[in-house]
Amino acid sequence: MKIAVFGAGLVGSLYALLMAKAGHKIEVYEKRPDIRKGTKGRSRSINLALSTRGKTALEKAGILEEVFKLCIPMSGRMVHKISEKTQLQPYSVYNDSIDSVSRNFLNELLIHEAEKTGNCNYFFNSELLPCKNDHDLPTIVLENKDVISPKVDFYLGADGVNSICRTYIKDNNFRLEKISHQYKEIEFPDNNGKHILDKNALHIWPRGEYMFIGLPNLDGSFTGTLFLPEEGVNSFAELKTAKDVNDFFVAKFPDTSDLIPDLVDQFFKNPSSNLGTVWVDKWYDDRKKIGIIGDAAHGVVPFYGQGMNTGFEDCRLLFELIEKEGFESHFEKFVATRKEDTDAIAKLSINNFIEMRDLVAQPKFILQKKIEGKIQEMFPSKWMPLYSMVSFSNIPYSVVYNKSLVQQSIMDQIMQIQDIEEKANQESLAPEILSILSTSFYNSDIRQV
Ligand code: FAD
Repeated sequence: MKIAVFGAGLVGSLYALLMAKAGHKIEVYEKRPDIRKGTKGRSRSINLALSTRGKTALEKAGILEEVFKLCIPMSGRMVHKISEKTQLQPYSVYNDSIDSVSRNFLNELLIHEAEKTGNCNYFFNSELLPCKNDHDLPTIVLENKDVISPKVDFYLGADGVNSICRTYIKDNNFRLEKISHQYKEIEFPDNNGKHILDKNALHIWPRGEYMFIGLPNLDGSFTGTLFLPEEGVNSFAELKTAKDVNDFFVAKFPDTSDLIPDLVDQFFKNPSSNLGTVWVDKWYDDRKKIGIIGDAAHGVVPFYGQGMNTGFEDCRLLFELIEKEGFESHFEKFVATRKEDTDAIAKLSINNFIEMRDLVAQPKFILQKKIEGKIQEMFPSKWMPLYSMVSFSNIPYSVVYNKSLVQQSIMDQIMQIQDIEEKANQESLAPEILSILSTSFYNSDIRQV
């Protein structure tokens, strides 16, 4: 097949690689310059958390080992409270980790690998124009200003949250549901190439209504991301002067104030950006053979670190459908089941903001995680904590969502047990916990999903 891909971001480039490796002829059109040629074309500098769904897709493309060279494993969250010692909360009882990876390094590798196949051509500085009339086919302005409409068998839009490819899909009914918080990146410098915080953890400063997080980079720095409400108490709007920013960090994140010497400069130089969920009813137009994936179809808020991972999973699922059943109608089959799953991760991602910014600092949350870990060790085929189902499995998100509701209602009963804290510290599971599990344990076996 001959396929035109719009967007050479993470998702478009992985799709291009998978399809080009399988022998399809791919043309990728990207409005920005080639990110491999200097900083001009660089977009967000953030690093990302890569988890099992993303890794499974990269493995399918045969480049997981190469990607691991760009990664720093993070086996838990390091919680920084205002006046207590930091506390490491492992992500799983089995030592599973998510990996911090630079967006740009990963993107560059994907582009390089796709080109290496000999079946994929990239056209940078080439912008897809919005659809003007319903019957229009995708139209691009190339770098030399020529306007073309590629003659291909299929058009794939991976052009992100503000997708233009989406405009070619009739009745797509796009909505962007903004949240009241924004984010701003603040870099923690390295110390002569060394990390100034534990590099094998995702650092969180949870403060109830807002939070600061930090992920490690290979060069010894950390990329911090500050999530604050746009307006109101403890908001970006309140931080107007250098003194406001300094005072805020000293009061709210005291252990960071010595670590970021140019905090104020960065704060006023770096933009505050919006966050939201992308809801789209139709991802495919059969008349024109146009489909959309990744953020263009289902962007989510970043609190589960799943946006890229979900987009990578899209690529794998599409590729496997083609492998199994051929190209014809594969996209309709994909859409038929996938939307339920991406709707589920959109909801879970919103819910996880409350967990990250607030619950992780609460003793009740830590106790619940401890009990859940014990249940998982005792009944590994029946119980997997929500975080593990999302981050360390390929279980469809809609199944994860439904299982999480059942598990939470069981945990609610367990947390009501008298002296639960003391019972949770016992070597084996207390009889009261076992009794709740035996009466309410759901039948399905996680491994069968
Ligand atoms: P994009 O990365 O947006 O790429 C789209 C590409 O299309 C771009 O290169 C763009 O230039 C190009 N393009 C756009 N319009 C046109 C046009 N008209 N013509 C041609 N080209 C065009 N996800 C995770 O999995 N883990 C994380 O830890 C994580 N952390 C995040 C933290 C933050 C603060 C944010 C904002 C997001 C985070 N995400 C994370 C989400 C992740 O960044 C996105 O899900 C991912 O980048 C989506 O990839 P994409 O290729 O679909 O879109």
